[in-house]
Amino acid sequence: MPQLARRMSRAKPSAIMQVAEKAKRLKAEGRDIISFSIGVPNFLPAEHVYAAAREALAKDSGQYGSNRGSDALLDAFLAHIGKIGLTGYARVNCATGIGAKHVIYNLAEALLNEGDTIAFPVPYWTSYMDIAEIVNAKVELLPCPASQDYKMTPAQLDAALAKKPKVFLFNNPSNPTGMVYTRDEIVALADVLVKYPDTWVITDDIYNRMLFDGLEYANFVHVRPELRDRVIFIDSLSKTYGMPGWRVGFMAGPESVAQAVTVMNSNHITNIPEIVTAAAVAALSGPQDVPAQKNAEFQAKRDQVMVVMDSIPGVVCPRPQGAFYVFPDISCAFGKSHGGKKIENDVDFCNALLETRGVACVPGSAFGEPRALRISYTCPTAQLQPGLARIAEFFAELT
Ligand code: PLP
Repeated sequence: MPQLARRMSRAKPSAIMQVAEKAKRLKAEGRDIISFSIGVPNFLPAEHVYAAAREALAKDSGQYGSNRGSDALLDAFLAHIGKIGLTGYARVNCATGIGAKHVIYNLAEALLNEGDTIAFPVPYWTSYMDIAEIVNAKVELLPCPASQDYKMTPAQLDAALAKKPKVFLFNNPSNPTGMVYTRDEIVALADVLVKYPDTWVITDDIYNRMLFDGLEYANFVHVRPELRDRVIFIDSLSKTYGMPGWRVGFMAGPESVAQAVTVMNSNHITNIPEIVTAAAVAALSGPQDVPAQKNAEFQAKRDQVMVVMDSIPGVVCPRPQGAFYVFPDISCAFGKSHGGKKIENDVDFCNALLETRGVACVPGSAFGEPRALRISYTCPTAQLQPGLARIAEFFAELT
């Protein structure tokens, strides 16, 4: 009997999807379920995006496209990142992929030999660990608990980089915590990065337009331009434009890296489809009212979630300033019981919350932080308060 490749014993299905599947099943059984589980923006793109896709369909060339991404798309992306101060890049510094996940996967293949080390902070976006495992990289984790607002300190970064990882992977604003590094914090971290010239730096900053409270997005290359030689900036249409299913991701960075991703594309996907490309150009270049309005809505929802989190005794919840996640430390519940069932950990907690109260959240262990759970608050506004009330009631019922 032929066997699957060894790497498949390391590849795991997404933990987040498992929660979402369970919630879906309970809903299909007629249960009243409120889902705070999947990290989808839950809005559709603006009409001009659809109009561009329809127009492209009418003029379809039916041909293969560029492995890097069409010139029009690269130019739209360059103009887009120029607006957040990432200037001085050209088409040769960029590459596209089927979503940011695909770009990150390509980068892992392009930058890491088997056994090389990739370092990243905890909590982390689940796919970082999964991708590292598939490419057989060693992982160096930097624990950043709620007590330090889920943020990495310069001293932690220094200690991790002193071990000479090949890649340091950074995510700002963060999924799952929603935390955003201030410009001063970025400066302090960049001062450490410059000391370690042999480490690539990937900044997965796909939520860079989803900032609250007037905060401005900062990247290491803003504050230490000499880092441009090894910082790879990642972006995506998925969250900002309500286009997760359209699958468009980007990178901007050193020419050699963009070329490597382009070569990977030539062997994997060939190109992003023409119609999707047209929609992507329209999203990036057209009116930005939908993303702006949605971001304001997310900020208001963040406020509502925080009122409830702050009201629950024992819950420690750093206040997010971006994306659409809240990541409360709920370890105060561990060792208690709900309806006679013992809550030993985050998975027990999320299972009991879903089964008894019909609220789906993702256990923090999916993100490397088993003391917490993730609330993704993009559900319809009418469901938010009832869902939050159920969480508060669940806590009140613990004995
Ligand atoms: N990076 C982070 C931090 C994410 O949260 C996600 C999606 O949840 C991605 C990358 C992947 O985005 P895309 O839909 O562009 O593949």
